[in-house]
Amino acid sequence: MPKAIIIGAGIAGIASAIRLTLKGYDALVFEASSYPGGKLTEIKADGFRFDAGPSLFTMPQYVDELFTLAGKNPNDYFRYEKLDEICKYFYEDGLRLNAYSDVDKFALEIERKTNAKASEIKLFLKKSETIYSVTHKVFLERSLHKFKSYLHWDTVKSIFRFGQIDAFRTQNVANQSAFSDKRISQLFNRYATYNGSNPYQAPATLNIIPHFEYHFGAYLPKGGMHSIVLALVKLAEDLGIQFLYNQKVSEIIYSKEKVEGVVSDNKIYNAEIVVSNLDIWFTYKNLLKNISHPKKLLNQQRSSSALIFYWGIKGSYPELGLHNILFAENYKSEFDAIWKEKSISSDPTIYINITSKHIKSDAPSGCENWFVMINVPANDGQNWDTLIAEAKQNILQKLNRILKKDVSKAIISETILDPRSIESKTGSYQGSLYGNSSNNQFAAFLRHANFSNKLKNLYFCGGSVHPGGGIPLALLSAKIIDDNVKKF
Ligand code: FAD
Repeated sequence: MPKAIIIGAGIAGIASAIRLTLKGYDALVFEASSYPGGKLTEIKADGFRFDAGPSLFTMPQYVDELFTLAGKNPNDYFRYEKLDEICKYFYEDGLRLNAYSDVDKFALEIERKTNAKASEIKLFLKKSETIYSVTHKVFLERSLHKFKSYLHWDTVKSIFRFGQIDAFRTQNVANQSAFSDKRISQLFNRYATYNGSNPYQAPATLNIIPHFEYHFGAYLPKGGMHSIVLALVKLAEDLGIQFLYNQKVSEIIYSKEKVEGVVSDNKIYNAEIVVSNLDIWFTYKNLLKNISHPKKLLNQQRSSSALIFYWGIKGSYPELGLHNILFAENYKSEFDAIWKEKSISSDPTIYINITSKHIKSDAPSGCENWFVMINVPANDGQNWDTLIAEAKQNILQKLNRILKKDVSKAIISETILDPRSIESKTGSYQGSLYGNSSNNQFAAFLRHANFSNKLKNLYFCGGSVHPGGGIPLALLSAKIIDDNVKKF
């Protein structure tokens, strides 16, 4: 059986290993850490469990697909529930909104509590669906870098409908014109942050993202987000895939423009195919040193990063749900701080994820596990210790203002993740969560392809390459590789 080596056991690396095994390859996964999942891992501290990275699960069909491809029932490996309430939104002026997954109920909630009309929400989500229908087969599910993709009938149809994807104005401009209440345009501007971008610069095409949530749904795996990884690793192991942990790859080797394997711990491992799940920046910098680098692609602006406080909280807060957003009063100045000043606003939007609302075992009795995250710039050598200390005070003051409670007294456990530790733990250049930002309309074309045009049989998957960051797109990168590798 021909050998396939996968470098990195992030979600896309695991998915690639499964797909290549099903294609007839003997897959071997090298992982630098002692655990699989990369960003999609968990943290345990003082009796609390936290999902360390992703907290929102959308498009579960891309995970299920891996089980069905292998002839297995996804339910035998992992289960997830559809959320009736996607998020709770809190504004400084006292407005509180529940984003129900039922669009009629959500639209009514908005009409009842704000100046926006229910019809505006429905029209907006219809447009979101249109962007999805024009783009998904071309921009998300196929390689943008293969000539044959452009000969496809779906591509031709999409080119004729290009005007409908709203690529020539910013997301904020589109959203301001869509809603009669600026708090609702703020709510939908927030979706730019789902791929680490700035709604005041990113094209309105990013309004595709609400369609993922309001059409396909938002979900929570029964054992938390980390159980997605555990289930996929179990499937992989059932298929005979071998994982080598604490086994960092130091070089990709090749000869005559064809990849031949990798080096790890000074030992050569030969393979027919190599797939790198690393951030593409580090793939070139560390593993492909002697090959010319695609500088234009690698020097694109990085996506934002995050500062996360994992707080074990004593007491319970019934006004909060699984996903909560406490909005900045001046949203634009928050993004100016991140993108222009490379700093953190004094009034950042706070995201709080509390899985113990659904999974009781995630916190001791009478307590809650709070994942408290704000968006911050990618690591550019800022004085993070000072920024983190200031941000913590600003977060606590905002929680105090909005929840009318002194949360600082309830914190009984604290772990912190910042751009520096995201970079060192997951190998993400500058601690960016999603590879490059999507702050201009050409960004989709400026992500690296899923294959090398210099070395035959070298492929790239994961959130830093096409089609982009986030679990669903990282999984699609593995699918695109699958579509382009020949079967044995
Ligand atoms: P990564 O997770 O980047 O893993 C790469 C792996 O490669 C790591 O395990 C690393 O140890 C390994 N590696 C690195 N170098 C080497 C080497 N030399 N040799 C061997 N192995 C190596 N997405 C969502 O869909 N929803 C969310 O709510 C969401 N929220 C997020 C919140 C945070 C705080 C973070 C950090 C990310 C979030 N994301 C979210 C993004 C999502 O986590 C990523 O897009 C996705 O997990 C990336 O997966 P990946 O396959 O690219 O691999």
